[in-house]
Amino acid sequence: MAEHIDGRALDEVVSFTSELIRIDTTNRGGGDCRERPAAEYVAERLAATGLEPVLLERTPGRTNVVARIEGTDPSADALLVHGHLDVVPAEPADWDVHPFSGEVRDGVVWGRGAVDMKNMDAMVLAVVRAWARAGIRPRRDIVIAYTADEEASAIDGSGFLADHHPGLFEGCTEGISESGAFTFHAGPGTALYPIAAGERGTGWLKLTAHGRAGHGSKVNRANAVSRLAAAIARIGEHQWPVRLTPTVRAALAELARVYGIAADPAAPDFDVDELLGKLGPAAALVESTVRNSANPTMLEAGYKINVIPGHATAYVDGRILPGGEDEFRDTLDRLTGPDVDWEFHHKEVALQAPVDSPTYAKLRAAVEEFAPEGHVVPYCMSGGTDAKQFSRLGITGYGFSPLRLPPGFDYPALFHGVDERVPVDALHFGVRVLDHYLRAA
Ligand SMILES: [Zn+2]
Repeated sequence: MAEHIDGRALDEVVSFTSELIRIDTTNRGGGDCRERPAAEYVAERLAATGLEPVLLERTPGRTNVVARIEGTDPSADALLVHGHLDVVPAEPADWDVHPFSGEVRDGVVWGRGAVDMKNMDAMVLAVVRAWARAGIRPRRDIVIAYTADEEASAIDGSGFLADHHPGLFEGCTEGISESGAFTFHAGPGTALYPIAAGERGTGWLKLTAHGRAGHGSKVNRANAVSRLAAAIARIGEHQWPVRLTPTVRAALAELARVYGIAADPAAPDFDVDELLGKLGPAAALVESTVRNSANPTMLEAGYKINVIPGHATAYVDGRILPGGEDEFRDTLDRLTGPDVDWEFHHKEVALQAPVDSPTYAKLRAAVEEFAPEGHVVPYCMSGGTDAKQFSRLGITGYGFSPLRLPPGFDYPALFHGVDERVPVDALHFGVRVLDHYLRAA
């Protein structure tokens, strides 16, 4: 297929990534973030191509940008391409290079957002502008959305767009965004390219133990702290049963094939832990998504050492597989017991995208075109993205932000990590793969 990416696009993806990093969009949660300058930056560059981006805010300063590129086939479903503009906090003292410098040093762009996900924001912008210069239109309508607030509740971002501006996404059936098609180095000479085709749901729980308040020196068989501690210990030690979703089953089958391991994840006696044990570093791609999980994370109880409090509270980070909610609820009822109540403090849906779809096949082919040495595998994300919010509009989400990374680049560790950075070559690869996929999508 002809190359439509020109030298200017390759330069622009680097300068856009760097300049977006320099616009500090740290999201500290609780509404403490301002995406507006970054939103204006991308909107100006989209408008320069003749598109008509709209800026949308639920809260002043928390700006989202949406634009639509008209495809050549009006009968085709539209495709959503979305990226968030906010980033998680970074502590400059911990970094080798200032996290908001966007410095390009020895062929690497440094800074918060270099992989999550100002890189993808910049790649999309560079592709769209290259198309405008070359007079290219994609087959499908492509809706581009730059969102606020992904790193907190999404209430000012994709949640707001899905609830209050669904018309902007009319016709969209599928979407692509972060956390897929990057190089996952899984041992010498083995480069995996995981494409996300699902996400576990979020089930953040609040537990409240009730008891009888009283003096710390007296007998008390209704101690809320002890009751809470017992429930938390049961939850923390619970062995959740294996539940293989179609995406995870496909991931395991593909990984077994890559490593030449005889295993049939569809067989009734299939032992997932045995296969995970043989997969080495690649096990990390799937091990968090073969079961539900619930990790106790916060405890709150008492105010004085000689006073037994009447109640005690804990928080648990639960993650729920597609289809796993009933079992999750029943298990929590049982593990908490009669003296401890639990409720969802925050809940987000689990997602599942087909891996036998034409779209997955095209995503896969685009990576293989430019990284023939790589092995494309589907995977389910252990956590969540904006795709959860857009799923309310009937949009099936895939994680696809292509990057070819050299050995030694530990992509998962760079996510929200110190010294987040991305090689210029990786950005060039991403632009080429995105261009290839999006034109044919
Ligand atoms: Zn992200």
